[in-house]
Amino acid sequence: MSGKSFFVDLTKCTACRGCQVACKQWKKLPGEKTRNTGSHQNPPDLSDVTLRVVRFSEKEIGGKMHWFFLPDQCRHCLDAPCKSGATLPDSIIVDPDTGAVIYNEKTAKESAEAIRSSCPYNIPRVNKKTKVISKCDMCNDRVKAGKLPACVQSCPTGTMNFGDRDAMLALAKKALAEAKAKYPDAQLVDEESVRVIFLTQDKPGLYAKNLMADAGPTGPRLYTRQEALASLARPFRAFLG
Ligand code: SF4
Ligand code: SF4
Ligand code: SF4
Repeated sequence: MSGKSFFVDLTKCTACRGCQVACKQWKKLPGEKTRNTGSHQNPPDLSDVTLRVVRFSEKEIGGKMHWFFLPDQCRHCLDAPCKSGATLPDSIIVDPDTGAVIYNEKTAKESAEAIRSSCPYNIPRVNKKTKVISKCDMCNDRVKAGKLPACVQSCPTGTMNFGDRDAMLALAKKALAEAKAKYPDAQLVDEESVRVIFLTQDKPGLYAKNLMADAGPTGPRLYTRQEALASLARPFRAFLG
C-alpha cells in the first residue's frame, strides 16, 4: 500500500480560502449563487461545482470563542466505501499509481444516490439537472505530471502537504507529537483508512460533523448491491408505468 496522500495540518489553517479558489480555477468550475447563512462559510456547502469548501465552526470553550477551520474534500479512502454503491464495472476506479479514487463517464450512468449514500464523509454531490455525481479527483492529471494538487500548491501556511504516503504519514506523526505540547487533545483523523490525513488541534467533532467517518452504532450506511440495482431500475419502472 503506497501511492500518494495529503497531510492537512489544521493547526496552521487561517481559512484564507486560497485552496478553495485554486480548486475552482484548475477545474474550471463556475462560481455559484450564494446566500448569507450567518457564517463566513461561503458557499454554504460542497456542490457539484464546489469540490472543496473551507468549513467554519465557532464554538465557546471555557467562556471563550474559538474558530475551527476545515478545508473539506474527498478523503480518497484506501478501501473506498462509495464503490459499494456502484454497479457497473470500472465506474469508480482507483489509480494504481496514486491511489486517487476517480469518478468517470461510467459513474455518470450509476444511481447517484446509491453512491452518495455510501460515503461516510458526505462528500459526493449530484447535479440537480443532469443527476451526474462528482467530487475531488486528487488533481490526478497534475499529480501524474509531477505537480502538486492545485489546492496544495496554493496554500500559503503549510496546512496542505502532499507526497508519497509513507512520507506523509511520517510527517503527520511528527507534527502530531509537536502539536501535543500546545494542544493536548490534538489527534490524527482516520489516518490508517484515508489518503487525506487531518491533524486537529482539538476534538474532531468541534470542526464539522463529517470530519470523522460516520461510523454510528452499526458502521457507515452502505448500500447493498441489491439496493443499488433496485434504485437503478427505478427510473425504468417509472417510464414503463
Ligand atoms: Fe468515496 Fe467518500 Fe471516500 Fe471520497 S470520501 S473516496 S467519495 S467514500
Ligand atoms: Fe480540488 Fe484538486 Fe484539491 Fe481535489 S485535489 S480539492 S480537485 S484542487
Ligand atoms: Fe487553510 Fe491553506 Fe486552504 Fe488557506 S489555503 S484555507 S490556510 S488550507
